[in-house]
Amino acid sequence: MPALQAARCPGCSVVTFPAAPACPRCGAETAPHPLSTRGRLWTWTVQRYPPKSPPHVGPGGGFQPYVVGYVELQEGVRIEAVVDVSPAEVAIGMPLELRGGAGVPHASAVRDDG
Ligand SMILES: [Zn+2]
Repeated sequence: MPALQAARCPGCSVVTFPAAPACPRCGAETAPHPLSTRGRLWTWTVQRYPPKSPPHVGPGGGFQPYVVGYVELQEGVRIEAVVDVSPAEVAIGMPLELRGGAGVPHASAVRDDG
């Protein structure tokens, strides 16, 4: 899965996501910056009913509640993602791997390696 594309200011290192063409701090032109894929769960909630459809397309076999949260990356940005961890096992601060691609980003649990 591809990394999510953000933008980074060459002058003051501010990272913006979604990518902004100009730095919000100094106004300089930014450069493309692929976000890191490892982060930690900053906060989360459980989606307990089907989102409005369209645009939501649920999986076959009926709706199952799922975790939605913000993944905080080392760049300091927080990305909203579907967290592929059961509501019984999810915990703030848990290490996650973030995946881009079509649609909403997804994050899954990874072993804590520091
Ligand atoms: Zn800047």
